[in-house]
Amino acid sequence: MDKLNQVLLRDEIRVGAALAAWLAHGGGEGLAKALQAPDAVIGAIEQADLRGMGGAGFATHRKWTPVADAPPGDKYIVCNGNEDEPGTFKDRFLLEHTPHQVIEGALIAAVATRANHVVLYVNPHQPAALAALGQAVQQWQGHPLFAAIGQRVGGAVSLRVVPSSGLYIGGEETAVIASVEGSFPFPRRKPPFPAQQGVHGAPTVVNNTETLAHVPGILRHGAAWYRGLGISGAAGTKLYSLSGDVLRPGLFELPMGTSLQSLVFEHGGGMLQGKEFKAVFTGGPSNTLLTKRDLDVALDFDSVRQRESRLGTGAMIVVSEGTSIVRKVAEYVSFFAQGSCGQCPPCKGGTFQLMRLLNRIDTGRGVRADMEALENLCRIARGSGRCGLIDGAVTVVESSVHQFRAEYEALLTA
Ligand code: NAD
Repeated sequence: MDKLNQVLLRDEIRVGAALAAWLAHGGGEGLAKALQAPDAVIGAIEQADLRGMGGAGFATHRKWTPVADAPPGDKYIVCNGNEDEPGTFKDRFLLEHTPHQVIEGALIAAVATRANHVVLYVNPHQPAALAALGQAVQQWQGHPLFAAIGQRVGGAVSLRVVPSSGLYIGGEETAVIASVEGSFPFPRRKPPFPAQQGVHGAPTVVNNTETLAHVPGILRHGAAWYRGLGISGAAGTKLYSLSGDVLRPGLFELPMGTSLQSLVFEHGGGMLQGKEFKAVFTGGPSNTLLTKRDLDVALDFDSVRQRESRLGTGAMIVVSEGTSIVRKVAEYVSFFAQGSCGQCPPCKGGTFQLMRLLNRIDTGRGVRADMEALENLCRIARGSGRCGLIDGAVTVVESSVHQFRAEYEALLTA
């Protein structure tokens, strides 16, 4: 992608906490436009086809609309910066290097919905991001643009940083709400969605950090401009976290809809010397694996779904021939087992049992009955938790068994 078309990662806006430098490079213009025509903001977000970049790809305007439509009273915008999935490292970069972009996006959301509380929820295991954001918030609080938001909202606006628990599950949106309320981050069932009943029961928008970072550009340059940045029918740009067996792993801002082939072989420099592409764990590793026959897929929410997988956060963990899929899946399921909050017994026990069975098979101690137990457990465990954690573990196990059954069977001793 032409560097000039980069939106989120342009060199000149990586100004850290320096608000004056952000404003000198077009920062603040999106917020000023939003303040001039607050009722047009959600329409612009809809026309831009901005989607939730935390993994689900849900239309952003559909989250904002119910909050905007709710009667006056306390309303919350929460920027979710808990990011803790294996292979995902985009939000921490934005928070550390261009925090004003994220804050301005959250403030525009507040203008659009008349929210009087803006909470920046950040993982304390990312201290540089936390520090930059803390300084950035102080600078906004003294700025006239910030004061102008109070007039739209009808009272003072609070803008604050809340460190998360640092636990993986603390990034699930209902767990985010519990944390902001000061409780342990136990997820709860949905509905009610946060838009209906969020922090202290108030209408709440919980948006991923990257989602909010796209908002100032959309307001500043217009929805048509944003849509035009995408390719293959998709809108905007996307941050792809590329890791694994590639020559140049890293964070890439590319047109939404860039092919997997292009990400891995052009931008990522191709496979490590002597290695051959085998598969990709997408999204963090809780989705259906993409394999060689998917290299042509456009990496946008809808196209990846057509391959019965999910784009998720845009994380792509590349594995090569010679790497054991069973070993990788055992590692990721172990991560999910450690990350389960434990309140739903089928998730707590199920992820542990999946991990145990995978480890037996991976270490050459597995028999056919273990394989049957693994597949049966997947069938009964799906949908058994309050949140999606167990479903992610089941999906990656089922997908790997379906696509690489021969690898599993070769490891069985009887
Ligand atoms: P979801 O499909 O339940 O919901 C998507 C979003 O849409 C939610 O914010 C939900 O509140 C909102 N929504 C849905 N219907 C709504 C309605 N009628 N009105 C208003 N809002 C509505 O997904 P989820 O459980 O929030 O997220 C799952 C995704 O998160 C997965 O794709 C996974 O890849 C990803 N994930 C990300 C991380 C990370 O670190 N970023 C970690 C784990 C999982």
